[in-house]
Amino acid sequence: MKTAFVIVAAGRGQRAGGGLPKQWREVAGKPVARWTLEAVAPFGKVVMVIHPDDQAIAQEVIVGLPVDLVFGAADRSGSVRAGLEALIEAAPEQVLIHDVARCCVPAQVITDVIAALETAPGAAPALAVTDALWTGEAGQVSGTQDRSGLYRAQTPQGFRYADILAAHRAFDGQAADDVEVARAAGLDVAIVPGSEGNLKITTPEDFARAAKQLRIKMDIRLGNGYDVHAFEDGDHVILCGVKIPHSQSLKGHSDADVGMHAVTDALYGALAEGDIGRHFPPSDPQWKGAASEIFLKHACDLARAKGYEISNVDCTLICERPKIGPHASEMMQEMARIMGLEMDRVSIKATTSERLGFTGREEGIAAFATATLVKP
Ligand code: MG
Repeated sequence: MKTAFVIVAAGRGQRAGGGLPKQWREVAGKPVARWTLEAVAPFGKVVMVIHPDDQAIAQEVIVGLPVDLVFGAADRSGSVRAGLEALIEAAPEQVLIHDVARCCVPAQVITDVIAALETAPGAAPALAVTDALWTGEAGQVSGTQDRSGLYRAQTPQGFRYADILAAHRAFDGQAADDVEVARAAGLDVAIVPGSEGNLKITTPEDFARAAKQLRIKMDIRLGNGYDVHAFEDGDHVILCGVKIPHSQSLKGHSDADVGMHAVTDALYGALAEGDIGRHFPPSDPQWKGAASEIFLKHACDLARAKGYEISNVDCTLICERPKIGPHASEMMQEMARIMGLEMDRVSIKATTSERLGFTGREEGIAAFATATLVKP
């Protein structure tokens, strides 16, 4: 195994307020530690160092992720060492040590550290100090400090595993970070570009900043769908799951629910998963006369299986008759039920085409739909 991570999560996080240690508190819908673990897990094996009191909550946070838990020590250096010792059997070539509170770490920072380890025994991200620096005393500026050559250190800090394990075993005392431990053992550490987005949650205000960063990373997808069905002899139509008495029916292989088909295709479109015909071929006799609910449910299940939440759908039916207005509310209710959504996330509306074109001549009904999917 090439790369492993030690995530340091044994602190009590008192400065962030809120009772629970900061790494277990939620930001943008997930615990801080969960965001951090999901950011690093694609790059290697993960060991998370925790306080023994936090075992139950940590176990909940790691569900579904390949993460080993290890109990830490009273100070940071001791906790890192516990994490490193837990990797002896796995024997990674290199290890990246990362603060759990840096939950917005960009993938680029991680890959830059890993790439730098090809040639350097240690590598860590940092940002050059650009603000002027002062010293102060009793609320007064007492002097200025030259900022040239000064950096703000971040994590993950990466090292060859055997080197940093030996360095931690030999180190005695308190270190600000693992670069200090490495340098005390004579290891050179290369600086790779850090990121302003790689913030460390420390104060209550940092939660809002982190939430903003994490939401930028959200995957938001938009899909559109369009469908047409022609009229034929009959006495009702089915539109968005609602049976409406009418002087004609819609012709189709299934129940010809043109509105539900457009919404279903919008969902498939957002997922780049083709259309209804791909998943339910019209050549297959088992879908003859099928309730379109089956198609819509399938698209919703597919979206959720891929980790998306359905944020909203909007559908416009285009026809002169039947009048949609009196049925719109029932349609929205029915579509929301099938999709497992709140009513206020489903919009069904209608327009005529001013008697123009095939819809104007009442030869058929057309429907447009859009759907938004969000992966948090
Ligand atoms: Mg259709």
